[in-house]
Amino acid sequence: MTFDMHASFENGHSPAGIQDAGSGWMRHAEIAPPPQPARREQGQRHTRTSIARLLHKHDIAPTRQRIEIAYTLFEREQHLSADQILSAVNARDVKSSKATVYNTLKLFREKKLVRELIIDPTKVFYDRNTEPHHHFYDVESGELTDIPAQNVHIEGLPPLPAGVIAEGIDIIVRTRRG
Ligand SMILES: [Zn+2]
Repeated sequence: MTFDMHASFENGHSPAGIQDAGSGWMRHAEIAPPPQPARREQGQRHTRTSIARLLHKHDIAPTRQRIEIAYTLFEREQHLSADQILSAVNARDVKSSKATVYNTLKLFREKKLVRELIIDPTKVFYDRNTEPHHHFYDVESGELTDIPAQNVHIEGLPPLPAGVIAEGIDIIVRTRRG
């Protein structure tokens, strides 16, 4: 079954055009996230204490290792692979095994603290932004950049199969230098 799905970009630029514009594109970095009360979890600087509160809120018992893993995700850049998280955690004085990090990320995902992005079976990233949004994926650098959901208009989706509701639509625009 083929979908006639058409994703258009609000400002009329092609994805490549947006990427070429470079500096203007929204990029989740640690520089000056705009204060948005509804999304304070993403915008504020976290401490171990605020991370523990956040874990409680998501019904996750805040063990020291879980706090460190969540702190890594919420304090650093937004999209990290499990291996990047593992090395960041172990670069501090908390030693975590690969199994602990993977199990913890699985728990975080189940409790909707983070969103899992599967680029391909060998490239899984964890995103602390659980609001609906899409991504540019630079296949050369492996870098993910957010596309706000409201910047993408999707037309021509087929009716849903009987008895189901849409849980979400995720678009990954894969880019390389042109
Ligand atoms: Zn994202």
